[in-house]
Amino acid sequence: MNVYLNGRFLPLAEAKISVLDRGFLFGDGVYEVVPVYSGKPFRLESHLRRLQASLDGIRLANPHDEAAWRALIGQLIAQQGSEDQSVYVQVTRGLPGEGEPLRDHPFPQAAVPTVFMLAQPLVTASPAQKAAGVCAVTAADDRWLRCNIKASALLANILLRQQSVDAGCAETVMLRDGYLTEGAASNIFVVKDGVLLAPPPSNLMLTGITYDVVLELAAAHGIPHVVRPVGEAELRGADELWMTSSTKEIMAIVRLDGAPVGAGVPGPLAQRMDALYQTFKREVMRA
Ligand code: PMP
Repeated sequence: MNVYLNGRFLPLAEAKISVLDRGFLFGDGVYEVVPVYSGKPFRLESHLRRLQASLDGIRLANPHDEAAWRALIGQLIAQQGSEDQSVYVQVTRGLPGEGEPLRDHPFPQAAVPTVFMLAQPLVTASPAQKAAGVCAVTAADDRWLRCNIKASALLANILLRQQSVDAGCAETVMLRDGYLTEGAASNIFVVKDGVLLAPPPSNLMLTGITYDVVLELAAAHGIPHVVRPVGEAELRGADELWMTSSTKEIMAIVRLDGAPVGAGVPGPLAQRMDALYQTFKREVMRA
């Protein structure tokens, strides 16, 4: 398996970085995960725009322009070879320059960013898994206040996600000050009385590319939807609950903290949105 590291495509086992890389020492970096369908990256322009926003958020210059990213990601996809893939892209603040302190919090004067990319086969949920849905638990969102930056420093998300693993569930749904923010690695939608509710993008969540697609599809297909803060009571009283992400797509949450969500099975709107999403992603790839 070939990966991309700092200008070269090389076997995974040969891809090495310094222990002084600030990604390793400080988690000083950002990332993206781009789904690839039928050999083509899905919504690449949105992922590259979000990468730019994350880089701006950590005050790190983008090492490549859009054309260069497209070319590199295209080459990696071709080398991986599978029809459906997920491409992981990471940019860290790299290494201190000559004569600079080896480990020091301030940005190095002459840092050279480290760029790493990995393409893996993408396995999305099977029809049986979709029909079953998943369970989730809730937790207080104790992350920092810059969750709109897709930071590679994911310790808070990892600890939160592990709470759901410990409960045998697929996601941790987070609440901050009584309001839904997002999942530990996904966005969360609520359906109540036929209306799709989504928390508004802010610094308290990462606005998913899938989140945007879901709202676009709702608008295009006349599905009532409102983007507004969603309180804890609405979350717990939901008819349907979905988690969305580039790799999970649209997945129904059928139990929350052990209690059934609505009828306790994936709801009709989840099934409809999943069907719309599947059609849409294949259509986009054919275009
Ligand atoms: N929020 C968080 C915290 C995430 O980690 C993810 C997935 N990386 C998302 C939302 C969903 O984003 P996307 O739809 O772009 O995968």
